This record gives sequence, structure tokens and C-alpha cells, in this order.
Amino acid sequence: TKDDVKGFFTRNAFVILTVAAVIIGIILGFALRPYNMSYREIKFFSFPGELLMRMLQMLVLPLLVSSLITGIAALDSRASGKMGIRAVVYYTTTTIIAVFIGIVMVLIIHPGKGSKDEFSKQQQIEQVSAADAFLDLIRNMFPPNLVEACTKQFKTQYAKRVVHVTMTINDTLVAPNSSQQIEEMIPVPGSVNGINALGLVVFSICFGLIIGNMREQGQPLRDFFDCLNEAIMRLVAIIMWYAPIGILFLIAGKIVEMDDISAMGGQLGMYTVTVICGLLIHAIFVLPTLYFVITRKNPFVFISGLLQALITALGTSSSSATLPITFKCLEENNKVDKRVTRFVLPVGATINMDGTALYEALAAIFIAQVNDYQLNFGQILTISITATAASIGAAGIPQAGLVTMVIVLTSVGLPTDDITLIIAVDWFLDRLRTTTNVLGDSIGAGIVEHLSRHELQNTDPEVGNSVVEE
Ligand code: ASP
Repeated sequence: TKDDVKGFFTRNAFVILTVAAVIIGIILGFALRPYNMSYREIKFFSFPGELLMRMLQMLVLPLLVSSLITGIAALDSRASGKMGIRAVVYYTTTTIIAVFIGIVMVLIIHPGKGSKDEFSKQQQIEQVSAADAFLDLIRNMFPPNLVEACTKQFKTQYAKRVVHVTMTINDTLVAPNSSQQIEEMIPVPGSVNGINALGLVVFSICFGLIIGNMREQGQPLRDFFDCLNEAIMRLVAIIMWYAPIGILFLIAGKIVEMDDISAMGGQLGMYTVTVICGLLIHAIFVLPTLYFVITRKNPFVFISGLLQALITALGTSSSSATLPITFKCLEENNKVDKRVTRFVLPVGATINMDGTALYEALAAIFIAQVNDYQLNFGQILTISITATAASIGAAGIPQAGLVTMVIVLTSVGLPTDDITLIIAVDWFLDRLRTTTNVLGDSIGAGIVEHLSRHELQNTDPEVGNSVVEE
């Protein structure tokens, strides 16, 4: 009946609008491509999208800190300890599976067949050693100045600039924007557009634990962060109405701007296909199966509740910027306990990146294949370990994974310059791996909630916040 139809539309308004935005964005993008807009015109055109990115990023810092602190303070330390262990076990297991899939796919499909002569490029990238990069990762966990951690990233080895890149495939110039892209992309591991997210996560967890244990004395602080968190979530609710418009222009703008893809047959094309297959296996098969085996609930119902977050990830290529939407989807559509999402999501968005891990292992082996470089078993193992570390270190911002690739490549002595070989397609693959990252975090929240149901029942709802009183 008419009422049913209307009810359906109001219930699913966000999803319908967001899906429509993607479709219109793609059509509009391709329709405008023939007009060869200038860089400046494209920037004007994508402006509504840029605004969405900025709005979401604006919320990340207060959301990350307040949700972690309240989430952890709301649990007694035993419960949060157990939940923390479960989350870490989940993150590690799924990341290792992802890396494994990436390696198997690239070895089977072997996209790097052929010769490197297909590619020719000139660039200079300053070298970074794997050890330096690893120490930087740890350093970032302990920001010496908290205020600075909120505003400025800690300068590390990663902040080395790429001087110049031009790249050709079969003499066709591809990715003319690459050098500019790389220059923009000098983030620090664990940083989100200037925020040292990893450092803030570590601090917030410790702080939450402490004020959670402070009983009455800690109440004002718990109330403060709780209220802050609630206020930010209300802001998110408003921004969600703008999100479809932003996503439409982000996607259309990118399609107008992208380099000519017809030049990229051969190896790069096969490489793209390999990455897509790997990510699909992980996202559509592995994660849902894991969810089903553990919770005995239908994973696809769970995923359908996440649609808006997944599309936002696709549009923004940033799991951090998507974080506010991920929260809304999980808490409102999937009814995941807030004590779980507040704890698990911010950490997940910062360190759990299945898509990135899969991608980095796969890309490193692809680069070896292109160079005709035979990897032995030990080297493949090294790649899987460093790809895991690199995914933890990668910030949840566009193309961060490409920067932390340096760790993986140097660990087995592959030329780091060759990152430029894959830059031309990275913007696209980045979107797909970001979507996988967000899915991994969300399914993790679902699984951790299920495993922690007993502790959640036993936790005193009066301490901090709980579902019961909301
Ligand atoms: N863009 C990804 C994310 O935000 C990170 C990456 O570059 O792999 O999750």
C-alpha cells in the first residue's frame, strides 16, 4: 500500500539517497569528462565534496577522544581488558588472513608477468629504512605534547619529499598528477590530516581506564566526555543529511579528474583486477563467514545496515573521515551496544586495516614480479609481517597505504622508487581497500559485542553510560 511504500522510504532514506548519489555521481562524472575541464574548474566542481570531507574530519578528533574515553570508562577494567583482548585477537587474525589472501592472489594471477620495459619513469624518492619507520610507529604512540598531537603531526622519516615523478607506460604519459599527489601525501604513520591519531588513541585508552576507576571522584570527567560524545553524535546526525550531496560530488569530481585509463592495459590492468579479486574475497566471503560462525546471525543483514558507511568510505577514501558515519550505522541500524562501538571503532579505524594489509603485501610482490625478482619463502614471510605492520602504521587518510609501502619494500630489498609504478591506479584501489577497512572494523564491533555479551550484562550501567539508560 501507499503507506508501506512511504514507510519504506522514510526508514531507508539515507541508504536510498546515498546509493542515488553514487549513481548520479558516476553518470555526471563520465558525462563531463569529454569537456576536459581544467584543474581549477575541477576543484570548483568538487567543492561540495571537499566540504563533506572537511566536515567529517572536523569531527574526528573530538569523536575519537570522547568515544574512547567514555567507552572505556563505562566498563570495569576487567571487562575492558577482556574486550580489548578480543578486539586485538580479531584485528590480528583478520589482518593475517587478509595478507594471506593478497599473497595467494598475486602468486596465482601473477600480474607482473612481462617486462619492466613497459614502464619507464624518472623520479627521486629519498630512502627510508624499515627500522626507522618502525621506530616512528612506536614514537607516535607517545606524543610528547598532547596539544600538538591534536594539531600537528610529529615529523618523522616519512616526511621526506618526493622530488619529482613522471611516469610513462608504453610511451604514453600516465598519471600526470602523480608528483603532485605524492607531495600532498606525506603523512606520518598514525596521523589523520595533522592529527596523531595513534598517540591520541593510546592516551585516551589510558585516561579512560583511570577515570573509570576513580569512582565518585571521576564522575565530573566521565560526565564531561559523555556529554561531549553525545553532542558530537548529534552533529554527525546533521551532517548525514549533507553526506549524499558531498559523496555525489566527490565521486563525480574524481571521475572527471582521473587520468586516462586506456593507457593502462597489460600489467597494471591485471594488477588492478588481482587487487579487486583479493579484496572481494576478503570482504564478501571471509569476513561475513567469520561473523556468521561466531555470532550465528546473518552477516548480510548486518552489512546492509552499514551501507551508508561503506559508500562514504568509497567516496572519501578515508576510514577516519568515515568514522562518524560508521558509528551511526552500527549504533542505530545494527543496534550494537555503545560501550562496544565507542571502544572498538576508534581503535579499529586507526590500526585495523585489512584492505590495506592485503594491498601492501600484494603490491610488494607485484613489484618483485615486475622486476623479475624471485622471492623465497622467507622473503614472502617478511613481506607478510611488514605488510601487517605497515597497515597498522597507515593513517586512515587517502593513500596513506602507499606511503607505508616503503616499509614493506625495503624489508626485502625491493626498490622503493617502484611505488610510482602503481600510483596511477592507487586512487581507485585506495577507495576499495578503505571500504574493506571500514567493513572489517564494523564486523569486528559486531563480533566483539557478541563475545562480550556476558560482561556487558554484568557491567554496572550507572558507571559511565549504557544502552539501558539511553
Ligand atoms: N585510505 C585508507 C584508509 O583510510 C588507508 C590506505 O591508504 O590504505 O583506510
